[in-house]
Parts: sequence; C-alpha cells; structure tokens
Amino acid sequence: MAIRSKLNELRTVLRAQGLRATPSRIAVLDLLRSKRRPVSHSEVSAELANAGWDPATLYRNLVDLADVGLVRRTDVGDHVWRFELIDAEHDATRHPHFVCTGCGTVECLPPMELALPKAKTPRSVRQRRVEVQVRGLCDTCG
Ligand SMILES: [Zn+2]
Ligand SMILES: [Zn+2]
Repeated sequence: MAIRSKLNELRTVLRAQGLRATPSRIAVLDLLRSKRRPVSHSEVSAELANAGWDPATLYRNLVDLADVGLVRRTDVGDHVWRFELIDAEHDATRHPHFVCTGCGTVECLPPMELALPKAKTPRSVRQRRVEVQVRGLCDTCG
C-alpha cells in the first residue's frame, strides 16, 4: 500500500511537468529524492544497475528532469554534472554545497545567510544569483 501510493505520487509529479511516467524516470526521481544531495550520472547508473536500465537512458532521464525544472544540474568545479532534486522543502538554490577536496563528495549544507558588502560586488552577487560553495575535507577524509 505504501509503495503503491509512493509510485502514484512520483507518477503525478512527472505528469504535472508534462513527462511520461516511464519506469526508469520514476526510479531516477525516487533515487534523487532519497539521496537529498547532488549525485552524478555515474552514481545514478551504479545505483540503478541492478534494474537493468542502460546508462544512456538514465542520462536522458536526468536531463529530462532538469529540463522541466524538477532537478537542478550543478558543476561544482570538477566538470562532472551532478543532479539534485528541487522541491518545496529542498530548494537547491537556497543552500550552499560542501565539496570534499579529498574524495570529491558533494553534500548539501543548511541554508545560511552570507553577509556581503553592498559596494564593489558584481551585480549577480548583489542579486543573489550566485552559488555558494564551501570546500574542505569530509569526515571520512579529515
Ligand atoms: Zn572526502
Ligand atoms: Zn543541495
């Protein structure tokens, strides 16, 4: 019963954005929802490998989800796209990301205010159209 209603909910979310609720899209959306951090295409492929979907299909699914605005695509500086679900309680534009300089893991940090001087900053900074990234060692590497 619980699984069934979760499936229905994921289908509804996809259809509301005009996407067909294919089994692989549902699986990708479900995975991103459980991760709650930006994940790369190779991570998604590895996690869903048992289900038998090929990596190209999963990549297209991720791009589709990003195109309709359900998912945000970020490059934290290593030229790898990572995909993060956006919803009411997890708005990827409102929180900074932590990037481990040792292993490359990316984690979401709680929303925080950055005190910025009014003068001498680019317009995008003043208008808050920028990403904040914190770099350091994760608990495993540190
Ligand atoms: Zn690390
Ligand atoms: Zn995040």
